[in-house]
Amino acid sequence: MKMNISNIYIAHKSETCFSKSGNPLSVYRNLSEAQESADYQYTQSGIALTAYQCKTCGKYHLKPTEFYCEKLSSTCSCTDHNGKKKDAYPTAQDAEKMVNIRKRAGIALFVYKCPQGNGYHLTSSKGY
Ligand SMILES: [Zn+2]
Ligand SMILES: [Zn+2]
Repeated sequence: MKMNISNIYIAHKSETCFSKSGNPLSVYRNLSEAQESADYQYTQSGIALTAYQCKTCGKYHLKPTEFYCEKLSSTCSCTDHNGKKKDAYPTAQDAEKMVNIRKRAGIALFVYKCPQGNGYHLTSSKGY
Protein backbone atom coordinates (compact mmCIF):
# COMPACT_ATOMS: atom_id res chain seq x y z
CA MET A 1 0.00 0.00 0.00
CA LYS A 2 1.27 3.42 -0.91
CA MET A 3 1.43 5.96 1.80
CA ASN A 4 -0.62 9.04 1.23
CA ILE A 5 2.03 11.62 1.84
CA SER A 6 -0.31 14.60 1.75
CA ASN A 7 -1.92 13.39 4.98
CA ILE A 8 1.38 13.41 6.77
CA TYR A 9 2.42 16.88 5.85
CA ILE A 10 -0.70 18.81 6.66
CA ALA A 11 0.57 21.55 8.89
CA HIS A 12 -1.57 23.64 11.13
CA LYS A 13 -1.72 27.31 10.40
CA SER A 14 -0.57 29.58 13.15
CA GLU A 15 -2.98 31.98 14.82
CA THR A 16 -0.20 34.06 16.28
CA CYS A 17 2.54 34.10 13.65
CA PHE A 18 2.37 35.55 10.18
CA SER A 19 4.71 35.97 7.27
CA LYS A 20 5.67 39.42 6.02
CA SER A 21 2.93 39.11 3.42
CA GLY A 22 0.35 38.49 6.15
CA ASN A 23 -0.22 34.77 5.63
CA PRO A 24 -0.36 32.56 8.71
CA LEU A 25 2.78 30.47 9.09
CA SER A 26 2.64 26.68 9.15
CA VAL A 27 3.15 25.33 12.65
CA TYR A 28 4.98 22.12 13.53
CA ARG A 29 4.93 20.57 16.96
CA ASN A 30 8.56 19.56 16.96
CA LEU A 31 11.77 20.04 15.08
CA SER A 32 11.81 16.65 13.37
CA GLU A 33 8.29 17.17 12.04
CA ALA A 34 9.29 20.56 10.70
CA GLN A 35 12.45 19.18 9.13
CA GLU A 36 10.59 16.30 7.51
CA SER A 37 8.19 18.74 6.00
CA ALA A 38 11.07 20.92 4.83
CA ASP A 39 12.66 17.91 3.14
CA TYR A 40 9.37 17.02 1.51
CA GLN A 41 8.78 20.53 0.24
CA TYR A 42 12.30 20.59 -1.14
CA THR A 43 11.58 17.49 -3.23
CA GLN A 44 8.37 19.11 -4.46
CA SER A 45 9.44 22.67 -5.13
CA GLY A 46 13.24 22.70 -5.00
CA ILE A 47 13.12 25.46 -2.39
CA ALA A 48 15.38 24.76 0.57
CA LEU A 49 13.69 25.52 3.87
CA THR A 50 15.11 25.76 7.34
CA ALA A 51 13.14 24.80 10.44
CA TYR A 52 13.43 27.11 13.41
CA GLN A 53 11.85 27.44 16.82
CA CYS A 54 9.62 30.47 17.06
CA LYS A 55 10.14 32.93 19.87
CA THR A 56 6.50 34.00 19.71
CA CYS A 57 4.64 30.70 19.93
CA GLY A 58 7.43 28.32 20.98
CA LYS A 59 6.57 25.93 18.13
CA TYR A 60 8.37 25.40 14.84
CA HIS A 61 8.04 27.16 11.50
CA LEU A 62 9.89 26.95 8.20
CA LYS A 63 11.73 29.72 6.44
CA PRO A 64 13.49 29.70 3.07
CA THR A 65 17.10 28.85 3.87
CA GLU A 66 18.45 31.75 1.85
CA PHE A 67 16.57 34.16 4.11
CA TYR A 68 17.36 32.36 7.32
CA CYS A 69 19.91 33.91 9.57
CA GLU A 70 20.91 32.54 12.88
CA LYS A 71 20.56 35.22 15.51
CA LEU A 72 21.94 35.28 18.99
CA SER A 73 19.39 35.43 21.77
CA SER A 74 21.92 36.90 24.12
CA THR A 75 21.91 40.65 24.28
CA CYS A 76 24.43 43.40 24.61
CA SER A 77 23.76 47.07 25.05
CA CYS A 78 24.59 47.99 21.44
CA THR A 79 21.98 50.16 19.77
CA ASP A 80 21.59 51.66 16.34
CA HIS A 81 21.31 55.40 15.69
CA ASN A 82 17.58 55.21 16.50
CA GLY A 83 18.35 53.77 19.92
CA LYS A 84 16.97 50.34 18.94
CA LYS A 85 18.72 47.20 20.18
CA LYS A 86 20.85 45.66 17.49
CA ASP A 87 20.43 42.09 16.28
CA ALA A 88 23.49 39.98 16.94
CA TYR A 89 24.69 37.14 14.70
CA PRO A 90 26.85 34.29 16.01
CA THR A 91 29.34 34.35 13.14
CA ALA A 92 30.52 36.82 10.53
CA GLN A 93 29.09 34.44 7.89
CA ASP A 94 25.61 34.69 9.36
CA ALA A 95 25.86 38.46 9.44
CA GLU A 96 27.22 38.46 5.87
CA LYS A 97 24.18 36.46 4.76
CA MET A 98 21.91 39.17 6.08
CA VAL A 99 24.02 41.81 4.33
CA ASN A 100 23.39 40.02 1.03
CA ILE A 101 19.65 39.77 1.68
CA ARG A 102 19.42 43.47 2.42
CA LYS A 103 21.64 44.32 -0.53
CA ARG A 104 19.01 42.88 -2.83
CA ALA A 105 16.58 45.34 -1.29
CA GLY A 106 19.02 48.13 -2.08
CA ILE A 107 20.27 48.58 1.47
CA ALA A 108 24.01 48.64 2.04
CA LEU A 109 25.15 47.28 5.39
CA PHE A 110 28.48 46.48 6.97
CA VAL A 111 29.42 43.73 9.40
CA TYR A 112 31.37 44.49 12.53
CA LYS A 113 32.30 42.62 15.66
CA CYS A 114 30.35 43.48 18.77
CA PRO A 115 32.63 45.49 21.06
CA GLN A 116 31.06 43.61 23.99
CA GLY A 117 31.88 40.21 22.52
CA ASN A 118 28.28 39.38 21.61
CA GLY A 119 28.85 38.06 18.09
CA TYR A 120 28.49 40.35 15.09
CA HIS A 121 26.28 43.29 14.26
CA LEU A 122 25.31 45.13 11.12
CA THR A 123 25.55 48.82 10.60
CA SER A 124 24.40 51.06 7.81
CA SER A 125 27.36 53.36 8.13
CA LYS A 126 31.04 52.83 8.64
CA GLY A 127 30.88 55.15 11.61
CA TYR A 128 28.51 52.74 13.47
ZN1 LIG B 1 5.37 31.21 15.89
ZN1 LIG C 1 26.83 44.35 20.72
